[in-house]
Amino acid sequence: MELNRRVFLKCIGAAGAGVAGAATDSTAVHAWESRAPADPLGCLVDLNRCIGCRKCEQACQTVNKLPQPEQPFDDLTVLDKKRRPDERAYTVVNRYYPGRRDERDQLVPTFVKVQCMHCQDPACASACIVGALTKKENGAVYYDISKCIGCRYCMVACPFEIPAYEYHNPVTPRVMKCTFCYERVENEGKLPGCVGICPVEAMTFGRRSNLLKIAKKRIESDPGSYVNHVYGEHEAGGTSWLYISGVPFDRVGFIQVPHRPLTELAETIQSSLFSYLWSPIVLFGMLGGIMRAFGSRSDRDINDKGEES
Ligand code: SF4
Ligand code: SF4
Ligand code: SF4
Repeated sequence: MELNRRVFLKCIGAAGAGVAGAATDSTAVHAWESRAPADPLGCLVDLNRCIGCRKCEQACQTVNKLPQPEQPFDDLTVLDKKRRPDERAYTVVNRYYPGRRDERDQLVPTFVKVQCMHCQDPACASACIVGALTKKENGAVYYDISKCIGCRYCMVACPFEIPAYEYHNPVTPRVMKCTFCYERVENEGKLPGCVGICPVEAMTFGRRSNLLKIAKKRIESDPGSYVNHVYGEHEAGGTSWLYISGVPFDRVGFIQVPHRPLTELAETIQSSLFSYLWSPIVLFGMLGGIMRAFGSRSDRDINDKGEES
């Protein structure tokens, strides 16, 4: 029997809720508490505006002194293949053909910029046993290499498959992911590199609460052009990066994740059921692995002709 992703994610949520219910009956259990900042900075990406120019990738590489890519940034043939952020690139843009056609019956692409979502309650930080990853008040999930011991638990825990590792660097390998241009924003008062360069203002930077208002206003004022969903408002408990789109998110590579933070699910299970059996990494690995297995189907569902497979 095929297990529908949505049903399955509900099951995860229900399991978590059941465990949470059990937890309330146990005096030995600690209630989970969100550590999310009240109104951090964030970034709203409007997929209806993005033209897939890759200038955000180039700005990110410059600002963060990342290596030059194998193919130059003006080579748009890289869009022919789906890419993920890695140890050489904190952000990548992918192209999808989700089935929309223009007046000449040509398929219309949708471009999707991918980077760390800077989760409100980040699973990567919760899994890190030495506190090398922390959610900052300004919204960034910040990496401190001086604390990192290279265990790579963060990579297993992340539901969005973001952190990469410098395996090629045997002396001082780092976990690599978007920094939300933390120093540039915090100390220099500048926009993140990718936001500042975008020629069509596909990204809006600001307080998360304002971005949600802007997102909902755009959807309400033009409901024919947007699906009624702000991705990141609730996913994984909420994220600092938010997206609006003219096509359903599961048709353009977005991973379906539970709305409750993974940290809550994992810590609730760990603290309520046989706590000696569960280490955070086992739980995050289990939850993350299950979600990846189901979420990864979204990339395979739509081929480049806009057909569902
Ligand atoms: S710079 Fe802006 S328009 Fe160009 S790919 Fe990035 S988000 Fe899209
Ligand atoms: S997307 Fe992944 S790496 Fe980024 S904050 Fe969330 S859990 Fe951490
Ligand atoms: S916020 Fe900074 S680090 Fe993150 S993708 Fe944009 S330019 Fe790169």
